[in-house]
Amino acid sequence: MGTAAAAVAPLARYDVAPPSPSSWYRALRPWLLGLGLTLVVVAIQAEASRTPSPRTADAPSTEFSEERAQRVMRHLADGIGRRIPGTPAHREAATYLASVLRELPRLEVEIQEAEGHYLDDDTLVAYTVRNVVARLPGRRPDAVLLSAHYDTSPEGAGAADDALGIAAMVEVARALANGPELENTVLFNLNGAEEYGLLGAAGFMQHRWASQVRTFLNLEATGLGGRAILFQAGPDASWLLEAYARAVPQPFGDVLGQDLFQYRLVPAGTDGHVYRSAGISGLDLALFRDGYAVHSPLDRPERVEPGSLQHMGESALAVTRELATRPFPDGKGSGPSIYYDVLGRWMLQYGAHAAWAWAAAAALLVAGATVLATRRKLVRLSVAAEGLGFCTLSLAVALVVPVAFGFLPHYAFERPHGWYASPWLAVATFGTLAVTGALLPRALWAQRLAARGVAPQERVFTAWLGGLWLWVLTLGALQLLGLGTAYLALWWTVGGALGLIAATFLASPRARMMALYASWVPGLLLTVQMGRSLLELFVPVAGHLRLGVPLDPLVALLAALPVAMASVLGLAPVQEQSRFGPSAAAFATASVAFLAALLLRFPYTHERPKRLWLEHRLQEGRSELQYSSWDFPDPRAALSGQPGPLQTAARMPGFRGGYTAPVPPANLPAPQVDVLESQDDETTALRTVRLRLQLGAAYLGRVRIPRAALVGWSLPAPLPPLAPEDSVYVLDVLAPPGGHYEVSLRLRGQEEVPVDVQAFFAEWTPPLEEARSRLPAWTTANLRVSTYATIRL
Ligand SMILES: [Zn+2]
Repeated sequence: MGTAAAAVAPLARYDVAPPSPSSWYRALRPWLLGLGLTLVVVAIQAEASRTPSPRTADAPSTEFSEERAQRVMRHLADGIGRRIPGTPAHREAATYLASVLRELPRLEVEIQEAEGHYLDDDTLVAYTVRNVVARLPGRRPDAVLLSAHYDTSPEGAGAADDALGIAAMVEVARALANGPELENTVLFNLNGAEEYGLLGAAGFMQHRWASQVRTFLNLEATGLGGRAILFQAGPDASWLLEAYARAVPQPFGDVLGQDLFQYRLVPAGTDGHVYRSAGISGLDLALFRDGYAVHSPLDRPERVEPGSLQHMGESALAVTRELATRPFPDGKGSGPSIYYDVLGRWMLQYGAHAAWAWAAAAALLVAGATVLATRRKLVRLSVAAEGLGFCTLSLAVALVVPVAFGFLPHYAFERPHGWYASPWLAVATFGTLAVTGALLPRALWAQRLAARGVAPQERVFTAWLGGLWLWVLTLGALQLLGLGTAYLALWWTVGGALGLIAATFLASPRARMMALYASWVPGLLLTVQMGRSLLELFVPVAGHLRLGVPLDPLVALLAALPVAMASVLGLAPVQEQSRFGPSAAAFATASVAFLAALLLRFPYTHERPKRLWLEHRLQEGRSELQYSSWDFPDPRAALSGQPGPLQTAARMPGFRGGYTAPVPPANLPAPQVDVLESQDDETTALRTVRLRLQLGAAYLGRVRIPRAALVGWSLPAPLPPLAPEDSVYVLDVLAPPGGHYEVSLRLRGQEEVPVDVQAFFAEWTPPLEEARSRLPAWTTANLRVSTYATIRL
């Protein structure tokens, strides 16, 4: 390498070296060390993120046993199955859970029936809900509330989502009830309707015990494996985070989840949202690994990873006990907190002020490192300033190149989402593209420096200092944005500065380099941890985000981000070389090979299937099956076994587009609407129409009323705020008593107003079952049956 450099850049005085086999080794050394360290860090992180061993049923009764809890999860998911509010299975589940809890000593158990209204996003839901609530009295009435939901979405038995959370709660109740009396009271809300708009939590807030609640712990799942992450703490939760950090044996949490919620980058809410809206602080714990099966028929007990329930339950029991053994603090916590675990062992947690203090200390450390490095003549300031520019450019190109290539699979080759079942392929493809991109500006800079006669060692330290300055500026920017995730920049900055300071005290070039490598590791570790969680969370979610755009560029960004971050300091040692041509070419070749594999890869497998939506819709004499996709790729290929003829679907209310086929009708009643009363008001030119909705055996009625015509309704809630493009108000009616529901609408004008009414049924029809049986093994289908009518008022 040295000779080649000399040939290209004759001014590079320090690069002239005799050709020898060891020059190859010298060129490869920084790469081998960097990649080797990365592999070690990834392995350590993987080991640290393993789930605990499940405890057997003979574990002491005051401890958490996965085997005992599993019986509850199995009974709900296998014994009872889908638990849709208003259906017999749902009632059976409530009765079963109440009976299990009534066997526990000291526990007061009630079945709560609540009615109310809840605004879920832009849909108003009028609900009737059945919660199983329990109370373990402590010496004080102040209470910790544990919450999970036993209802399921219509598509599956909901083993992880959320029979697992319910099972964990029952086992926590058993452990606490068998222990000594606690200082504070513990309440349990086994809520009966989360999937239809957070209604079980809203209903619980009407219960007389709700006023006792001082804090909550919500147990949820958007995946079937891994450890339960503390993904949201909300504002003013520092005392809760301290309790979690003190008590939980294997902490797992990242403030990133909170940042995503804060900026509304995660669409779904949890029951925690309801409690927080009522001014109660609390923690959300959730499983998220293996999100491929959630909200699908694949969410079954045998798929739940062993140890996941143990981790969820152990964590919930430890925090609950901790919170229940001492009086609650007066007043609230001191604003938002930053929290994250290190290697699943330690939970770090500090407030916003402390974060600023840490950032200031890090900046001082960087200033000190800069002074020392210039005094010891490791770098010159003029060259280092140039380094900041090239490091920034290198980071930008490291992100832009993968994202740009992310557009190719769909727009150039029509093969999107090849990473869906194989996220590692996204990491390999877009990670190598990120390194290739990062090398391009650095190669240019290396040649310039070599041409100016800057020595190899000085080039390395200059690149390191430039990267360090970039990190401290990033840290400041993230702090100003109020993002907890600034902690990553903090670790990179502190590590990088300490490494540079250590190097200034070391004499031998080799020892100096080792100091830099060692100081690279802490930032790398936390970045790998964050990047892995982000990708594990998001890739399966891409299978059920009903967006009309391919998600490859976004996945490219997520896969490239940790690599680009690691490259800021990680590529400094490579700067020893004056030419990057061969290494850039090697990475470019590898990324092209990975990209080709990504393009050829079929996105779905039996285990990680494509999600389809099959709805049998009966509408005024028409009976048809509607097929649509939950992710971006066209569902057509999955429908070749269907007895056509398939037509491209016209736009219908509540239907995203896809294909339809006529099928034999099923014997289901159309939703019936009786107009009970209609009154005109001459002075206001408004009409009031009183309706009775007859849902019969349907569990859900959905009413769509034109925005232009509706002025108000008899519900105690105002009309929901709508986006400018929305043309209808949506009112959902869930499980009304006796199957009927009355409402008055105030309508503008005298012209007829078309109101669409749709009723959803829990039982599948034969054509629907038939269609599902004809789908290929690499798909999974969520089924719906609905009848549909348009009435004119
Ligand atoms: Zn859930």
